[in-house]
Amino acid sequence: MSNLNINAIRADFPILHQEINGYPLVYLDNAATSQKPRQVIDAVSHYYLHDNANIHRGVHKLSQRSTDMYEAARGKVRQFLNANSDKEIIFTRGATEAINLVAQSFVRPKLQAGDEILISHLEHHANIVPWQILCEQTGAKLKVIPMTQSGELDLTDFDEMLTERTRILAIGQVSNALGTINPVKAMIAKSHAKDIPVLIDGAQAVPHMTVDVKDLDCDFYVFSGHKMFAPTGIGALYGREELLNAMPPYQGGGDMILSVSFEKTIYNELPAKFEAGTPHIAGVIGLGAAIDYMWQIGIDNIAAQEHHLLEIATRKIEALSGVTIIGTAPEKAAVISFMIEGVHPHDVGTIFDQQGVAIRTGHHCAQPVMEFYDIPATARASFAFYNSEEEIDALINAIQKTQELFA
Ligand code: PMP
Repeated sequence: MSNLNINAIRADFPILHQEINGYPLVYLDNAATSQKPRQVIDAVSHYYLHDNANIHRGVHKLSQRSTDMYEAARGKVRQFLNANSDKEIIFTRGATEAINLVAQSFVRPKLQAGDEILISHLEHHANIVPWQILCEQTGAKLKVIPMTQSGELDLTDFDEMLTERTRILAIGQVSNALGTINPVKAMIAKSHAKDIPVLIDGAQAVPHMTVDVKDLDCDFYVFSGHKMFAPTGIGALYGREELLNAMPPYQGGGDMILSVSFEKTIYNELPAKFEAGTPHIAGVIGLGAAIDYMWQIGIDNIAAQEHHLLEIATRKIEALSGVTIIGTAPEKAAVISFMIEGVHPHDVGTIFDQQGVAIRTGHHCAQPVMEFYDIPATARASFAFYNSEEEIDALINAIQKTQELFA
């Protein structure tokens, strides 16, 4: 149980207070995207109402204010991840763009045909497809750590999969489809023992737990703001300074250069080298506000409340007959994927919506996980700290009503 006053917290999220089809909205689709507290919405709107200007280029007051706010948010992300320096924080559109950046700028120049990239069966498409593109470009091979029936990584042959040809291990910290928390710290240590760099996809981790890139000792860490209460279209890449320094730019354009002539362009220092063009300034400021908000609530409190919700929801679903939870790892973040016997997950989603309960149905951009279980899709309820026990009851009711309808 957590110390949070859920009613007070819910008052910070205006969107939660509405009816859908005559029922109070029960938003359980947080793994797809989270809702935004008023503090984040206000920070973005305050920026547009008072401070909007392009950054890094102007001597006028608004530009200075925008630049200061943008760079202050970078400092918050640095602190949020416990990175060493602001130079190690690159703003991107999200986790997807950050993974593509590392694939193309860090890994591609090192790759020869026959080299290997190691990912896992649990990955989101965002941590599969950029590597497949890279393999097509270079003749490298994609290798995949298998998974078990409980939805965990099968690490039996992990040591042997880390070979002298492995150029990167790219692995999700938390599975978006099943909620499994992977033992990434131990995996990073094993990879580093063989000098293999590691990228961690933290898209589903940062909303739920404290992340410390120094403690993890990863080389790259990526996440999206919109899953952690910030606007869409903004995220970040953490990279070790010496690695980022040695990497060529990912995109060319304004702001990432020191000087340009037709003969030669000199690239800017970190982090600007990787931030070509006018960035999503308002999004960055919103991300900073989201981090402030999470700190104010307390990340341990967030984790405790979500753990509590996950436990009671799991217990209540397990007590129902005809419902199977897909993914039963002992270490899970606040995600429950499930199947209702005899009902297609898409119908489950539609019937739930008729009762105001928003969940996700589909393959969750993790088709290999669905293939593993030989199912087309699951229904997925995913919780945030603003969800209440009453909403778990609404979820259980929705399952029972669906079963009645299909009986
Ligand atoms: N990785 C994981 C584990 C995810 O859950 C997601 C989003 N569903 C992504 C990467 C991609 O994030 P985005 O679409 O915000 O870039």
